[in-house]
Amino acid sequence: MAGELADVEGVLLDMDGVLTVSWRPIPGAADAVSWLRTNEIPFRLITNTTMLSRTRLAAILREGGFDVDREEVLSAAAATGAHLRERHPGARCYVLGETDDILEDLQGVTIAQDGSADVVVVAGADDRFTFANLNHALNLLVGGAALVAMQRNLTWLTDEGLKFDAGPYVDALERAAGVRAVVVGKPEPAFFRQGVETLGVPIERVAMVGDDLAYDVMAAQSLGMAGILVRSGKFRPGVDDREGGAPDHVIGSVAELPALLRS
Ligand SMILES: [Mg+2]
Repeated sequence: MAGELADVEGVLLDMDGVLTVSWRPIPGAADAVSWLRTNEIPFRLITNTTMLSRTRLAAILREGGFDVDREEVLSAAAATGAHLRERHPGARCYVLGETDDILEDLQGVTIAQDGSADVVVVAGADDRFTFANLNHALNLLVGGAALVAMQRNLTWLTDEGLKFDAGPYVDALERAAGVRAVVVGKPEPAFFRQGVETLGVPIERVAMVGDDLAYDVMAAQSLGMAGILVRSGKFRPGVDDREGGAPDHVIGSVAELPALLRS
């Protein structure tokens, strides 16, 4: 049953805010990952990050001292590439957001940044989310294009403070165009299930570790996983407390995970 950590046989880890902040390792995080490896507890990193390819994400983690392979990284961008190839084969896709660094994950997808498009794909919010580009997306949607969001996080934490993520823009496009987005990344059950399947562990024996109460912890709990909230990253006392969820466990950072799983 969720919450009984003695039974945990596999772990899903959020990346941003759990292992790193602004790509710098959180103290003790690399040791926690090594502990999982040493104790043969399979793990996957499940991230809504859309700025970098899986290859680059794994490389950054390895440079930061994490013992992680590319195959252990599941990203919303890569899952979106798979989704578009499967559900919208051959479609012209207008991508809102920077794609230069995730082209590897979008192989086989026809990117159409000018003219007509069959699908509007929302990546992570960045400087490409201009008034002109948002209006182009809006008009494509009104003209019948499908709306696919890599994720719909509200905010993300950087060295410069909180920044808007894609979520508020997805909300705006949905409302203005009168459409509903298909979301690929967390908190979508299919994304978590994809991670659990690659662990090869029953979902009730998996713990999800994240800094986002709603999209990491509560979403995983609703599927039967144990939900562990870390107070690193974008966790904000007062704000997150109001979400109404109850994590199975709360720890200061992922550095405390080995002690929790041993307890
Ligand atoms: Mg996070």
